Parts: sequence; C-alpha cells; structure tokens
Amino acid sequence: MAVLVNFKICDNAKECGGIEVCPTGALSWDEENETIKIDNDKCISCGACERMCPIGAIRVAHSEEEYEKLKQDIENDSRTTKDLFVDRYGAAPLSEFFMINPEELMNKTNEGITLVECYEDDSIQCLLKSIPIKDITSDMPSDTMFYKMEVNEELKQKYEINELPSLLIFKDKNLLGKIEGYYSVEQKEDLINLIKEII
Ligand code: SF4
Repeated sequence: MAVLVNFKICDNAKECGGIEVCPTGALSWDEENETIKIDNDKCISCGACERMCPIGAIRVAHSEEEYEKLKQDIENDSRTTKDLFVDRYGAAPLSEFFMINPEELMNKTNEGITLVECYEDDSIQCLLKSIPIKDITSDMPSDTMFYKMEVNEELKQKYEINELPSLLIFKDKNLLGKIEGYYSVEQKEDLINLIKEII
C-alpha cells in the first residue's frame, strides 16, 4: 500500500536500514538529491522497513484511511532531529559537559546525589534507542549530577564492575551502589526505579 517517512526525526542517511531490507525497492537512496526516496507503487506494506527503524520514523499504512491518519500524525509531530541527538545513558557522549576523568571523580561528586555512568568504546549502544539523561534525572533532587566516565581495567576492578555500562550511585560522596548493564528507552522506568531503590 504505502510507506511514509517522518523526515522531521529521520536522519535521512544512505545507510538507512529500511532501504537495506526493502524487498521491492520502494525505499531507495536518491544520490542526486541526497535523500531517501519513496516509490509507493512498489510498496507491498510488508512492514520490514518499519521494524528496522529504531526511532519510528518509518511508518507503513495498510489502507487509505491509515495512510491519512499516519500522514496527519507526522504533520502534527513537533519533534525534530535535534531533540533526538541529546546525551543518553549507554550511548556515545555528545557533550563535554557530562564527561569526567577518574582524577576528577571525587571532586565532582557533590553533597547530594551523583550518578556516574562508566563506559568503554565496546559498551556504546545506539544513540536513538537509549534513555536521555534528562529523563533519568528529571524526577530526582534538583542538585543531582550526572557524569560519564570512560573506564579501564583498573577502574573496573576498583569498582567491581562486571558489565558496562555501569551506573555508580554516590550520595554525599559515598558510593551507595551500582547498576550494571544497558537499559534501553523501553526500560526507562525500570532503571529509574532501581536508582530510587538505591538512594
Ligand atoms: S513496507 Fe516493505 S515494501 Fe514497503 S517500503 Fe517498507 S520494506 Fe519496502
């Protein structure tokens, strides 16, 4: 039937997974205009592209009615790609603001709650599937700090980290506990509840 791409949040890249899996060529890359091209005469509404898109930018309609509804949803969507590219738990750091090195750790842990995400290159997950840091801290005391710290083997041993990313939770400069492993955006509430249990 038809496929729609929400270009407000799509990063419109040649490497789009939807293009890769489309069995009919309904989604393709337009080299000249450098954009994803849609040919709905070829779309069979199999849904493969929709399942591939990590942020829900590709939508597939199975009827005229659904097509109009999805089109309207996209028109009403107030998000932009800028909203998606924010610092997130488990994803590559984007802003210097969140970064600390191990020497700064004790100086940066404040008198309240400090969350320190330990990571290494191999533990970095998809930016768009990860939980925005502001969503993790929004419900916590206003002086809660969040940092990202790249760790080596020595630090992993020091903090007894078995799995990365790991979240070290400090209160009044004391390490209260840690949460090991990645939590995707679907597991946001689980992560927040675990942090609350520890603090
Ligand atoms: S629904 Fe299937 S045929 Fe249509 S664009 Fe997506 S992958 Fe291609």
